[in-house]
Amino acid sequence: MAGARRLRSYRGPDGLWPHLLLLSSAMQRRADQGWIEVISGPMFSGKSEELIRRVTRYHLARIPTQTFKPALDTRYAVGEVVSHSRLSTAAEPVRDSRELLESVADRTVVVGIDEGQFFDMGLVEVAELLAGAGKKVIIAGLDLDYLGRPFEPIPSLMLRAEYVTKNLAVCHRCGGPGLFTQRVVDSDELVVLGATDTYEARCRRCYRPGEAVQPPLGIAQT
Ligand code: ADP
Ligand code: MG
Ligand code: ZN
Repeated sequence: MAGARRLRSYRGPDGLWPHLLLLSSAMQRRADQGWIEVISGPMFSGKSEELIRRVTRYHLARIPTQTFKPALDTRYAVGEVVSHSRLSTAAEPVRDSRELLESVADRTVVVGIDEGQFFDMGLVEVAELLAGAGKKVIIAGLDLDYLGRPFEPIPSLMLRAEYVTKNLAVCHRCGGPGLFTQRVVDSDELVVLGATDTYEARCRRCYRPGEAVQPPLGIAQT
């Protein structure tokens, strides 16, 4: 009320200052607000692409960012996150959620994490700690494994996140909405040599979790 009265009695440029200061401190508080964003979906659904896009925008705005990936994921490049469409951003490999937490600099505002499903469950607590400290945490990862089971810690992170994006890929078989990741090694017509052809995106109708020989989910491709 006092603010509204003051605004009504505003007579000249000098009188505007208190309001501008109030406004800017409120905006500042909002800018300091931390949160968790999760980008989930099957392989080929554009999770890494979207993570790179979001982190790059902050980077362009000169907001300090750091991106991490699990150390075991050495596809394409060790020090980068690279999408299937060959977009990339610098990324620090870390062994687990603890090392990730220890690697986040005080001044960092945006923390990007790719392949979140390859981290331990501690990632949930680490993400919450970082968000509580005012950082914007953006995590990309598979929500389902190749057998269609929840792929932790992504489902738990989705429940604790302010913003959840669930991407769909294009079903490799019929072009429909690709919700699942199908392992296709040893499948006659689909065998293509090389680690990058071990998985396909599949829609509800084309997904056959029991079809191929399915050893534990590797990191051949995401
Ligand atoms: P993810 O991280 O979810 O595995 P990426 O961001 O690395 O996905 O790659 C997404 C890109 O992959 C798309 O923009 C497209 O160029 C390419 N792509 C290849 N196959 C498919 C598919 N079946 N559905 C959607 N995108 C595909
Ligand atoms: Mg990816
Ligand atoms: Zn299909």
